[in-house]
Amino acid sequence: AEELMIRSEKLSVAGQLAAGIAHEIRNPLTAIKGFLQLMHGEIEKDNQYFEIIFSELNRIEMILSELLMLAKPQETVFEKANVKTILREVVTLLETEAILRNIVIEKKFSDEIQEVVCDKNQLKQVFINLIKNAIEAMPNGGTVTISTKSENFSIVIEIKDEGEGIPKELLERLGEPFLTTKEKGTGLGLMITYKIVENHKGTIDVSSSEKGTVFTIKLPKQKTVL
Ligand code: ADP
Ligand code: MG
Repeated sequence: AEELMIRSEKLSVAGQLAAGIAHEIRNPLTAIKGFLQLMHGEIEKDNQYFEIIFSELNRIEMILSELLMLAKPQETVFEKANVKTILREVVTLLETEAILRNIVIEKKFSDEIQEVVCDKNQLKQVFINLIKNAIEAMPNGGTVTISTKSENFSIVIEIKDEGEGIPKELLERLGEPFLTTKEKGTGLGLMITYKIVENHKGTIDVSSSEKGTVFTIKLPKQKTVL
């Protein structure tokens, strides 16, 4: 428990710092991109360096927007929400990309009412991050299974893929900032995900083998009063 606490403290300090820096870098970056676009019109022919510069700038922008997400938990708006509705919205959002990559997203939702008190946008972000990772873990296609069930005091959401799994050395380090094995990854998705789940007084667990990975999120249940 002590180790966990130290880790979460580290996250919030790193988060605040990161968000602050991200904010400061964003304006000059926007200026650079703008002028680069203007310059592009004046360069003869197609310049290959331009493409590289532009795609690297886009990468920086992507990292910045993920870092800025870290600042958001301070403006959290908690309200009662249906977990299945949030999951359906997220699946709709990601379905096109999934189909293009030969991936089926399967929903195995419980019939029960599954309400939690949460910041909907943040919870969406959690599911988007985990489902995206699941999709990215299966470059040759496969099935992502999203299931929900209810326990006495919590709603349990599982996101399962059929990818190659996460090596043990990496498993222990998940949630560290900038930890990525992907060429175009930022290594911030899980860090943000862990932080949001923690803000919701929930837990997140991962189990992984060479047959695939399962992320399990437990959120405190909102008791339905009739
Ligand atoms: P990113 O996706 O940008 O690399 P994340 O924080 O989302 O950053 O994930 C960190 C790393 O954890 C990934 O690069 C990957 O190596 C590993 N990972 C996360 N989810 C999965 C998964 N479902 N299957 C395999 N590896 C995963
Ligand atoms: Mg990711």
